[in-house]
Amino acid sequence: MNKKNIKYNDISLCNCFIGFLSGENLYIDDFYVEVNKLSKDLILYKKHGLTKREPLSPKQLVDNRRGYLSRFNFCPYCGKEINWKKLINTL
Ligand SMILES: [Zn+2]
Repeated sequence: MNKKNIKYNDISLCNCFIGFLSGENLYIDDFYVEVNKLSKDLILYKKHGLTKREPLSPKQLVDNRRGYLSRFNFCPYCGKEINWKKLINTL
């Protein structure tokens, strides 16, 4: 373990790394903001003809079948189990 990771020994200080959203690293503190931002971006892309895909709501975006979100079951930094049900209920 390198020095940078020492602070993650304290679970309460960990901004858990929970997966990938549209290929970008996704952290627990940013979950709500990033998912809502992507949802708004998709509406813009559609409006400007950049995609033919239908825009998705934040809750649709986190649906595994849509392929936008790759979920970890555990944070690779602190090992804490990620409560996806609870997270998704915040959307
Ligand atoms: Zn963590």
